[in-house]
Amino acid sequence: MTENENADNESPAARRLAAIARLTVDRSNQITWYCRGCDKPIKNGKGYLVADEWAAGQKKRRWKELAKDRKPGDIIAFQKLEEGEWDELFDLVPWAAWHRSCDTTRQRVEYWFPIEDIRTVDDFLHWNSHLMEKPWLEYTNWRDLSSSLSHGMRRAVRLEAGERG
Ligand SMILES: [Zn+2]
Repeated sequence: MTENENADNESPAARRLAAIARLTVDRSNQITWYCRGCDKPIKNGKGYLVADEWAAGQKKRRWKELAKDRKPGDIIAFQKLEEGEWDELFDLVPWAAWHRSCDTTRQRVEYWFPIEDIRTVDDFLHWNSHLMEKPWLEYTNWRDLSSSLSHGMRRAVRLEAGERG
């Protein structure tokens, strides 16, 4: 690996992209989720979609703390920022799809649901409205996940059009 590739992999944008759970959507709006561990499709009953709710809650608390006592024009109280904390502050807590058998991450308080409960675009919308109630959601990459889903849907439409043409 060259130095450039290395640097690119560690850029915030690349990190953010890499953190999005991999999925594909077919023309009938069925979602296939790929395991974070082995990258194979996850069958019903074999895995889940999960986020570290505790970490997202911590991030929310930290943002609130840093928002107190900030000087005019600052987004946070920089004097309270710990060494090296700035980058980390903008990292969103990732949602990840895992096979139960592949998941080696042990998180403190996880929010998860079985993969069979989020198999279609309708399912996704259902969870979306449910999760919108959670105060910690905006500290996760759920928004990236939904834009990945919408890209997947558009790709499915284009593929079908291509096959016909
Ligand atoms: Zn796996």
